[in-house]
Amino acid sequence: MDRYSKDYEELKTLLENQGGNYDYDLIKRAYDKMVQAHRGQRRSSGEEYYHHPLSVAKMLVGIGMDSESIAAALLHDVVEDTDVTEKELKAEFGENVAALVDGVTKLGKLPLSTTEQLQAENIRKMLIAMAKDIRVIIIKLADRLHNMRTIDAMSEQHQRDKALETLDIYAPIAHRLGIRAVKEELEDLAIKHLDPVGYAEIEQLLAKRSSERESVLQGICDRIKTHLKKVMPDVKIDISGRVKSIHGIYRKMFVAGKDFDEIYDVFAIRIITDTVADCYNILGIIHDMYQPLPGRFKDYISTPKANMYQSLHTTLIGAEKIPFEVQIRTFDMHHTAEYGIAAHWKYKEGISQSDQNLEDRLAWVRQILETQKESDNPEEILQSIKTDLALEDVFAVTPKGDVITLPNGSTVIDFAFAIHSAVGIKMVGAKANGRIVPLNHAIQTGEVIEILTTNQQGHGPSRDWLNFARTTSAKQKIRTWFKKERRSENIETGRNQIERDFARNNIRLPEDEMAEFIEKTAARQHFNSVDDFYAAIGYGGVVLSKIMPRIKDEYQRILKERNDTVKIVTPANTGRSSNGIVVEGIDNCLVKLSKCCTPLPGDDIIGFITRGHGVSIHKRDCNNVPKDIAAASEPERWVNAYFENTGNASFKASLMITGNDRMTFLSDVLGAIAQMSIPVHSVNARQLVGGSAVINVTVSVLNVKQITAITQKLQKIEGVYGVERIKG
Ligand code: MN
Repeated sequence: MDRYSKDYEELKTLLENQGGNYDYDLIKRAYDKMVQAHRGQRRSSGEEYYHHPLSVAKMLVGIGMDSESIAAALLHDVVEDTDVTEKELKAEFGENVAALVDGVTKLGKLPLSTTEQLQAENIRKMLIAMAKDIRVIIIKLADRLHNMRTIDAMSEQHQRDKALETLDIYAPIAHRLGIRAVKEELEDLAIKHLDPVGYAEIEQLLAKRSSERESVLQGICDRIKTHLKKVMPDVKIDISGRVKSIHGIYRKMFVAGKDFDEIYDVFAIRIITDTVADCYNILGIIHDMYQPLPGRFKDYISTPKANMYQSLHTTLIGAEKIPFEVQIRTFDMHHTAEYGIAAHWKYKEGISQSDQNLEDRLAWVRQILETQKESDNPEEILQSIKTDLALEDVFAVTPKGDVITLPNGSTVIDFAFAIHSAVGIKMVGAKANGRIVPLNHAIQTGEVIEILTTNQQGHGPSRDWLNFARTTSAKQKIRTWFKKERRSENIETGRNQIERDFARNNIRLPEDEMAEFIEKTAARQHFNSVDDFYAAIGYGGVVLSKIMPRIKDEYQRILKERNDTVKIVTPANTGRSSNGIVVEGIDNCLVKLSKCCTPLPGDDIIGFITRGHGVSIHKRDCNNVPKDIAAASEPERWVNAYFENTGNASFKASLMITGNDRMTFLSDVLGAIAQMSIPVHSVNARQLVGGSAVINVTVSVLNVKQITAITQKLQKIEGVYGVERIKG
């Protein structure tokens, strides 16, 4: 066996040990292609090039990524560094793998960023790639990690530049995606190259203290284990000790200025169990065994971190007077803590475009991109991205005791908007721990924040707030408010101008007809709503005097039509009409079934004489029919109507069916309708959160009886909890 086959066998064993459902054929073909393409190339360290993509692929196997990602990782440098083309990859490995490689290749071309503008641009490109397919970034992170591991052969300047970029961009992204192992190693390697002396100092401290404390900690671990076994014999529990990452200690020592001995979580004990209830039970038991350090308990189970991390943290003091941290979580939470977003692929293959769970977890990517569009100041963009990717969160408490998680540096403005936009917009001031603070007050963890609001009209955010707010979401909400605020001013201006100009041009109609007239005018000008039309006039997008001649023509037409339609009402005989509907007093006129209530034969109906569109038929109980016709504004326009025996004329009716979303839900519903030989016009099904689904079906029926029969039949289907007839 040559060394290439031997290396492949290693990868294959790794895959088999993962126990996933891999596409071995795809991976093997990608491997062979890659080895062939890079043949003869070497890395700066001197080793054969193929080791690099292979190592990147192995990392992805380790964090549980799918076959396409692994194949793309193997091929990630071939387009850039060999004569293999993207087209070739598409033909041999499919669209998805080719697109992943293309994404990684494009990110690889980003210049090392020195200026803020370039840096912001680079981050923006990464975010766009993430929004398209998050796997691109996960491959890129593994690529960067392997490059950092093997960076020693590069020049010192290159090492430092790469290390800085890793710390500034890649590690925070890994953190936001919750991929702990990758994030910590990236940070440690970056620190090692940026500050070799500081790094070595911590390494030495750790080595020294570890041997001092290891036995103590091992003793505590054993004691906890024995005790938990005794009091919870049936509960599955894993206990292990861990040392904090060097970068974590580095930040506390050199950035926060703490002494090594003040860092309590250098050594931590991790307890993993099955259920959330057991987590809290274990916490109680441990707080009985050891004295907890006040102010150190954090419940990330009830308040997960922004990257979905969940765990209980507490710091305890043992008989030896050495504080130690204990982390308690379930196996599921542990998996998320280690692999973050990558956990998504762990037990399944591929990725579906409409994966809601993944979408929700990446909402922040879109939000950052959204904000970027609204600002062209690179400094501000970079600042907001860095805040959003921030490593540290602060926890503030509402007066009711709810905990709000915010990025470090957030102000009371962020807090107010995090509670609700309405709270932020009505804010006039804030208290921290009972004392009035300025609006740019940076929140400290544990502070009780109370937002003071007003209901007074005309109050709202000021422009300064954009400078005080740290979070993207608060800034965006403030901007949206300004946009809307201006919009309502514009609408007001536009409406006034129309009123004035119509009066000047002698365009006068009763109120409801005027509304209809303006609506039609807006539609003719291609506006979606009257308000849009007003707003456009308000800000000058539409010059009213220019369209006035056309408006006047239309007004004349309406006046004429009005005189015509009134004549229809006069003859007083009973006639019949299309659709099998008889309208009392009117012969052979145009009859339309109204869209608001879509009446069916058998329904109690009433007609309304419209201006120029014949008679529209409503159900008697339709919301658009006045309860008391005699008291309505124009009672003469309401006329009695009823269905004649209709024979075979059919009508459309729409039903909304809600139920438990199971595999055969849709086919059961359609099956039931088919059994009754009722034609289906259209079907639309969608999932709701929480395992329900809604199906909208439009069917052709002959009368109301049939609709009742379908409804009854559908209600009997297992898992259906609602069948409703809806507006067409
Ligand atoms: Mn690479």
